[in-house]
Amino acid sequence: MERVIRDGIMSFVRESPDNRFPDSGQPYFEEPLIGFAAADDPLFDEFRTIIGPFHLTPAEVMENCYGEGVGEARTVICWILPVARPTRESNRKEERMPSRQWAMTRVHGERFNTLLRMRLVELLRFAGAQAAAPLLSGMWRPVMDSRIGMASTWSERHAAYVAGLGTFSLSDGFITDRGIAHRCGSVITSVPVQPTARTCNDPWSNCLFFRDGSCCQCVRRCPVGAISREGHDKEKCRAYCYGEVRNSAIELYGVTEAGCGLCQTRVPCESRVPAAPERPGGASPVTQGIRPF
Ligand code: SF4
Ligand code: SF4
Repeated sequence: MERVIRDGIMSFVRESPDNRFPDSGQPYFEEPLIGFAAADDPLFDEFRTIIGPFHLTPAEVMENCYGEGVGEARTVICWILPVARPTRESNRKEERMPSRQWAMTRVHGERFNTLLRMRLVELLRFAGAQAAAPLLSGMWRPVMDSRIGMASTWSERHAAYVAGLGTFSLSDGFITDRGIAHRCGSVITSVPVQPTARTCNDPWSNCLFFRDGSCCQCVRRCPVGAISREGHDKEKCRAYCYGEVRNSAIELYGVTEAGCGLCQTRVPCESRVPAAPERPGGASPVTQGIRPF
């Protein structure tokens, strides 16, 4: 069944016309990364402490969808959709606003990501399995938390971490083998699949800053100073992206959602895990004792 799931995701990304700019025919996303997490991985319970008690477990999503004692969560299927190279290149040139391609990917590419969630749920149900996408389950909602700021009842990035697809970053992004410029998604199923091993030293080890205190190019790239050595100021970022950026995106590109994404392009982690020698002994002093991921 793992092969069927992988092939289903890969072929949809490769062949769907919804993964294409209507004018150029170029794809929004390149070949995805796919990982699997055990639905009973203890990290999903820990997220209720790390993120907040509002964060759902896979079992809760499935029981809500199929009924208590009926819904069965065994595997969380996660994917990373890397933003296509020409789009990343176009955003590298920008200093304040997202490029047109970046803004279109944020809106229309994410619409494709929703279709991918629906497609995978359909494929699994057709095969006789239970399946639900947390973001489409009716249980997903944004949450303003007094401790960690804006959050939600299901974090696609945290699920991707459990599924061994990468680590978190100074900029609050998620650095994978294909970099930080991507969209991610997940579907929970009753199908058992061997979990993907987590090979990172810690939840931040793909980020150079947490590895050895270097880099900070995302700090310099942010036009409003929302990233510092202390981390990502979600409110400052949000105020800019949902204010000035959104107003310009409506006017320039006719889209209403458009994070600027400047901290995800023209940075060493844009399309890969940046190379730098690991410090002997594993996690650096910068990494230890840092805030919850
Ligand atoms: S630009 Fe550097 S410091 Fe910022 S997230 Fe990427 S690797 Fe980490
Ligand atoms: S999305 Fe834009 S505003 Fe937000 S942290 Fe990144 S560069 Fe700064």
